[in-house]
Amino acid sequence: MSDKDDKDWSRYKLATRAVRAGYNRSDEGEHSESIQLTSSFAFDSAASAAARFSGEEPGNIYSRFTNPTVRTFEQRLAAMDGGETCVATSTGMSAILAACMGLLKGGDHVVAGHDLFGSTIALFNNILTRFGLCFSYVDSTDNAAWQAAVRPETRMLFLETPSNPLSTIADIAAVSGIAHDAGALLVVDNTFATPVLQQPLGQGADVVVYSTTKHIDGQGRTMGGAVVGSREHVGESVYGFLRSAGPSLSPFNAWVQLKGLETLAIRMKAHSAAALELAQWLEGQASVERVYYSGLPSHPQYALARKQQSGGGSVIAFEVRGGRDGAWHVIDQTRMISITANLGDTRTTITHPATTTHGRLSDEERRKIGIAENLVRVSVGLEDIEDIKADLQRGLDSLT
Ligand SMILES: *Cc1c(COP(=O)(O)O)cnc(C)c1O
Repeated sequence: MSDKDDKDWSRYKLATRAVRAGYNRSDEGEHSESIQLTSSFAFDSAASAAARFSGEEPGNIYSRFTNPTVRTFEQRLAAMDGGETCVATSTGMSAILAACMGLLKGGDHVVAGHDLFGSTIALFNNILTRFGLCFSYVDSTDNAAWQAAVRPETRMLFLETPSNPLSTIADIAAVSGIAHDAGALLVVDNTFATPVLQQPLGQGADVVVYSTTKHIDGQGRTMGGAVVGSREHVGESVYGFLRSAGPSLSPFNAWVQLKGLETLAIRMKAHSAAALELAQWLEGQASVERVYYSGLPSHPQYALARKQQSGGGSVIAFEVRGGRDGAWHVIDQTRMISITANLGDTRTTITHPATTTHGRLSDEERRKIGIAENLVRVSVGLEDIEDIKADLQRGLDSLT
């Protein structure tokens, strides 16, 4: 450990934190972060082992609890988000589970945006309700609806902004005010924007969750998740769940994602610039009926998006002529773009939400959140934008 460990990273800009925060160089003097692939840690003596286990002596015991490579990843992400601490998890879903298990108890009520990631809704409705938690859903853009859904036993408000796949924007500051007046916490799933484009803690959120599988890995290699927030909520409550229940991030995945964080700022800017150009181009296509992207001036919440995000991110959704057949045709006519549900990758991906990511919802539920049969979602990668346009143009032209 060197005296560089305790740097106050808040004095540095985000791109600097992304590259440097959190690493304790070993005595070997390695310049790139080492990977500590070890399940347990050895002690100098029985007395030292006892002191570690009792908590008298700080230090690593077992990688389900703490691991230096995972810790570096956690400290770097916390520094980027302006959070006191971070707990890394094995997937994005286990980050959401850990936040709920750490912060809620049976009998508590949660108000959530109705356009959450599909597995989040399944976790809430099919699993957590069996343990005495209760969930209500609201249109996340409607502040009066958030307020009206609050009950005396409400302990958490949960939202995703921009949402998947329609890029609707929830007002983080306004919803956090409603949460705090009710004595509840606001949890924001910031997977789509990442700390580069949006820092919810600075706008009033209490806890931020991520699927780091998406933009933070950024090249579609590893799964991971993270919960960021205060020492009390995350460092104690959420960490307490992780330590006992064990959805811990593997050190190898932490290392890959640490490298992902180093390039996150330039990637998010490039994704956002390319997605904006593609969204504007799609708006000009005769066979495209509507484009959903929060970076477009035509987006109904453009002003709010500008206020809380510094870019629109990688994901665009658009409706085409010809219903489901039209949407499938555009997807099937691509030759380069990957037909896969992952997003936030260097490779552009395309999917039909109504039959894939949102396929488990009923027709009625899909209608309520606005997922039409003719909707296509694209996560714009880092290939040349002209090649991406040409790959979509083929299918779009044949619909006119
Ligand atoms: C993918 C995703 C998740 C779930 O993350 P996994 O890493 O797949 O478990 C949660 N929220 C959002 C917004 C996502 O896109």
